Amino acid sequence: MDIKRTIGNIEGVVVGDHFSGRLDVMRAKLHQTNQKGISWLADVGDGLPVADAIVLNGGYVDDDDRWTTMQYTGASEGKDRDAETGRLRRSQSWSYVDNAALKRSYERKYPIRVIRGYEGDKRYSPPKGYRYDGLFEIKAIRTGISKWPAPDGSEIKICQFDLERIPDVQQSLTPLELRVAEMIQEVEEQAEAGEERYPQVRTMAIRRLIRSVATSQRVKNLYGGECQLCGLRILGPDGKPHSQGAHIKPLGDPHGGPDVEPNILCVCPNCHVRLDVGAVIVDEDWSIVVRADLFGAPMLPMLRTKGWHRVHPDYLRYHREWWASRGDHHTAS
Ligand SMILES: [Zn+2]
Repeated sequence: MDIKRTIGNIEGVVVGDHFSGRLDVMRAKLHQTNQKGISWLADVGDGLPVADAIVLNGGYVDDDDRWTTMQYTGASEGKDRDAETGRLRRSQSWSYVDNAALKRSYERKYPIRVIRGYEGDKRYSPPKGYRYDGLFEIKAIRTGISKWPAPDGSEIKICQFDLERIPDVQQSLTPLELRVAEMIQEVEEQAEAGEERYPQVRTMAIRRLIRSVATSQRVKNLYGGECQLCGLRILGPDGKPHSQGAHIKPLGDPHGGPDVEPNILCVCPNCHVRLDVGAVIVDEDWSIVVRADLFGAPMLPMLRTKGWHRVHPDYLRYHREWWASRGDHHTAS
C-alpha cells in the first residue's frame, strides 16, 4: 500500500477527531501501523527512520500521562514482552528501530502526533476508540528503570521520552472560541432543518471548534439534557432539551483543564453557573455540597452519572481544592 506520510498535522484531520479503531487511525494517515505504539517513516534526505506519531493506550506501566506533558515508554520487540501480562522480559534498546526513530525525531526537533486510546489514563482517554490530540514536542530522552523488574527480579532498562504539547493556540480553546463554535453549530442545525445549504468548505479552525462542541454534545446526548447536579431537564417548545456541557476543571489559564468527557458534566444553565463560581462542589464520595445559599432549587444528593460516562475524581478534587483555597464563602445554614 502506498501511503503518503507527513511529519506534523495531517490535512483534513483536526485535534479532537475520533476514530473507532486503529485501522481507522492508520487510514487517516495519522499512524503508519494498526498495532505499534511508535510510527516512523524514512526522512527526506538521508532516508533514516524518524518518528511521526505515537499511540498512548495504557501499554506500559511506566507511561505517565499529564495531558499537556507526558512520559512515554519506548518500544520492545514482540519476543521481549509477555503477550499476556505486557511485562518486559528484558531491557529496551535504543538501537531498536522504533526507539531509534523517536530519538532521531527528538534530535531533529520534529513534532509528534499524539493519539490517545480508550485503554490509557482514565483522566484523558476517550470512552471508546481513539482520539487525535495534536502535536507534541519531545523535550528530553533518557534511559530509565522500569517500575516492574524482569521475571528473574533483575532491573529492566527502558527508553523514556518526555513530551510536551506544542503551545499552539490552535490546540486549546478559550471560552469565546467555544461560544463561537456553539453559534456555528446552531446555524448548521438551522440550515439542515431548512432549505438553505450551509457551505461545505470550512477552515480547519472552525472544524476544530465544532469537534470541541461535539465532545460536550456526546455527554449531553447521553443524559438527554438532564442536569447531573439537580436533575432538571429544560425542554424548549420544540421538545428539545436545553443543557450545557460544563468543564469541571476549567479550560484555559490558569487551570488548563482538558476538553475530554471525564472532565465534562451535563448541567442546566443554573448549575453551570453554580459550578463555575464554586457555589456547589462534589465531595470525595460524590455527594453534592452546597457552599452558598440556594433558594428554591434543590440539588441531588449525589452526582448522577450513567452509561459510559466516567467523571474522573481528579477533576472534582481540583474543583473542590480550587474553591476551598478561596476560603471566605457563605455556607448554607
Ligand atoms: Zn441543574
